[in-house]
Amino acid sequence: MTSTSALPAATILGYPRIGPDRELKKAEESYWAGRSELSALEETGRALRAATADRLAELGLAGEGAIPESFSWYDQVLDAAVAVGALPSRFADLVEADGSISLASSFVLARGDEHRPPLEMTKWFDSNYHYLVPEIGPDTAFHLAGDQLIRWTQEAADAGRSVRPVVVGPITLLLLAKAADDAPEGFDPITRLAELVPVYAQLLSGLRAAGAAWVQIDEPALSADQRLTAAQLAELIPGSLGLLAAQGDRPQILVTTGYGEPEGLVPALLASGVEALHLDLVKGRIPAVSELVGAGATQLVAGVVNGRNIWRADLGTAAARVAELSSRLEQAGGTGGVVVGTSTSLQHVPHDVTRETALDPALRDALAFADQKVQEVVELAAGGVEPGSVDGPRSTPRTFAGVRVEAVRERAAQVTAADADREDYALRAAAQQEALGLPELPTTTIGSFPQVAEVRRARAAHRKGVIDDAAYVQAMKDEIARIIALQEELGLDVLVHGEPERNDMVQYFAENLEGFATTEHGWVQSYGSRCTRPSILFGDVHRPAPITVDWATYAQSLTERPVKGMLTGPVTILAWSFVRDDQPLGETADQVGLALRDEVTDLEAAGIGIVQVDEPALRELLPLRVRDHADYLDWSVRSFRLSTAGVQAATQIHTHLCYSEFNVVVDAIDALNADVTSIESARSRGEILEAIDPDAFPRGIGPGVWDIHSPRVPSTEEIAEQLTRARRVVGGERLWVNPDCGLKTRGYAETEASLRNLVAATLQVRAAA
Ligand code: GLN
Ligand code: ZN
Repeated sequence: MTSTSALPAATILGYPRIGPDRELKKAEESYWAGRSELSALEETGRALRAATADRLAELGLAGEGAIPESFSWYDQVLDAAVAVGALPSRFADLVEADGSISLASSFVLARGDEHRPPLEMTKWFDSNYHYLVPEIGPDTAFHLAGDQLIRWTQEAADAGRSVRPVVVGPITLLLLAKAADDAPEGFDPITRLAELVPVYAQLLSGLRAAGAAWVQIDEPALSADQRLTAAQLAELIPGSLGLLAAQGDRPQILVTTGYGEPEGLVPALLASGVEALHLDLVKGRIPAVSELVGAGATQLVAGVVNGRNIWRADLGTAAARVAELSSRLEQAGGTGGVVVGTSTSLQHVPHDVTRETALDPALRDALAFADQKVQEVVELAAGGVEPGSVDGPRSTPRTFAGVRVEAVRERAAQVTAADADREDYALRAAAQQEALGLPELPTTTIGSFPQVAEVRRARAAHRKGVIDDAAYVQAMKDEIARIIALQEELGLDVLVHGEPERNDMVQYFAENLEGFATTEHGWVQSYGSRCTRPSILFGDVHRPAPITVDWATYAQSLTERPVKGMLTGPVTILAWSFVRDDQPLGETADQVGLALRDEVTDLEAAGIGIVQVDEPALRELLPLRVRDHADYLDWSVRSFRLSTAGVQAATQIHTHLCYSEFNVVVDAIDALNADVTSIESARSRGEILEAIDPDAFPRGIGPGVWDIHSPRVPSTEEIAEQLTRARRVVGGERLWVNPDCGLKTRGYAETEASLRNLVAATLQVRAAA
């Protein structure tokens, strides 16, 4: 190690990569579609990296190592896997003769090709970002296969910029990986740590040679892992981070631990010999003096500016946390001092709120996107902020119009336990059977039908004012009529209107409820080139007028069969929005639940006998640490029940969950008290059936029999086989027949063919009873 300059007083862990105008997305999609050359894409990336470094300098990040190089073409976990050659055997041909893996090949890992499926995708900790899951076996041949981070560091140095390259660390890479398909039963990728570390050592020396004074090694898994105990995790540190720090030829190392707290691991991390350690002080506690005793000259990065929300920081509280950490570090004899930083990378927030000129200025002033967060870090580091209390408010009180609506608060205050309760299930089941008269194994779908170009065009034209309300309503009605006729012809039992009027299952409700704002440029990366523009839930939520009732009743007017009303649940609305942080989440969730309750009871009053309230995000908001589960489940379940418990016994409430990890949230699913729950099952080959204990979960259940994530049409035989198996497990009384999820992204060809087979299989299995 040659350079020993300390980390400057202000830094961030990472910056949005997609570009203020989604330049990366556009360039990638054009390249993938064959409309442009790889060189044009490479140029876009180069320009984005340069613009980011310049922007961060302009915002005040100064000094060697202050500016992270956190660019990624697709995903940072994929980048790390490619860098160390961690490819599953089905992609072995992507490794060139010299051991390297090209950018074009890394896109094949991300997106698959005609020969093989891509790496799986899953959520990055408790965020809405998705990473690609590395597949690692006992024989995965780790070697330095990707040098893009070294090239980017060199590129910056050549342009006279100093950047701190960022890489997902070896512990996190292995803890987030899954065992390769050809690995023996019980194999755990973390057992390969000792063999992986030398490749990181090589990478570090390459970065040093390219001019990096600092490198950032992200180890967030240390704050979130649920499988290994703190003691087991602590044992991994000396042989990985410790070995890297012991090597001479490297940049100085900053280890980050965002998304939570590295519980019990601070002493081991300080003992590893790295020069700087980051702590997320938004999610985690300030370490006690006793934990900091071994700090020596290690610098601590206080992650006090929240990388996960879009609210301005309470600078007084943040300054107090920085001061408290400094004082504890000094008491422990540490001499490295404290640097101000963000709790996580800023990749979870949009670029710049000053561009949101259509927002109410009072709301806009309360918001901080990435650029504003950088400014907050810089301001705190400059030392001009008077410290408040360490446990001060999570943000300055917001007082502009819509934040407090007294009628909403009064109503929420009057909620009693009885409002969340319905009659006993046995009574409901009998009343519903009487009202609906459904056959055994009723068939239905999850809500959306394929969104054809015509429908999307009509929605866009209406939004731009090109067609008027009447023309828009007529276009939607025509589509609904087509979808109802199709379902009748296919012979489905419970019909849906098909959701043609919805662009997105959360944004649609956000646009129709009070208390939400939408942005023009507020894009955040969801995965790869996919971006979402989450709504901002800033105020008290209520429903000014019915939202879905006209569509549902129009659909019902066209058929004798029951039409199922379709809503997005409160937990999912919260999970996929940026949510106010000036009151407990549970209070906000109750307000959303009550607003939806009005919609549910209006649907019932309008003659809709079945209402489905989707909660695909129930699982994803589940806190990383088990001890926080009870509190979460308490408020999340209550808000769902508030939304659905206003109806008569004879009205049937459905819910839909998009995943197959039934066992993880089985108690919560049970507590939702829905009459029917549909859940993914086909994609995971019926795994969930093992988890369904008919005694523990005594109500209606629809394990999906068609994997809608691919255009493949399941045969009648295979559906019948799944149904026969499911009926054996859960019994014929309670079993529903449905696909895994909504059909929005499917085409009509496979939709018709698959639903035809689904109905045919159901008739077969009914007859065989
Ligand atoms: N009702 C929604 C649909 O069918 C559900 C989508 C989801 O589960 N993500 O599209
Ligand atoms: Zn779904």
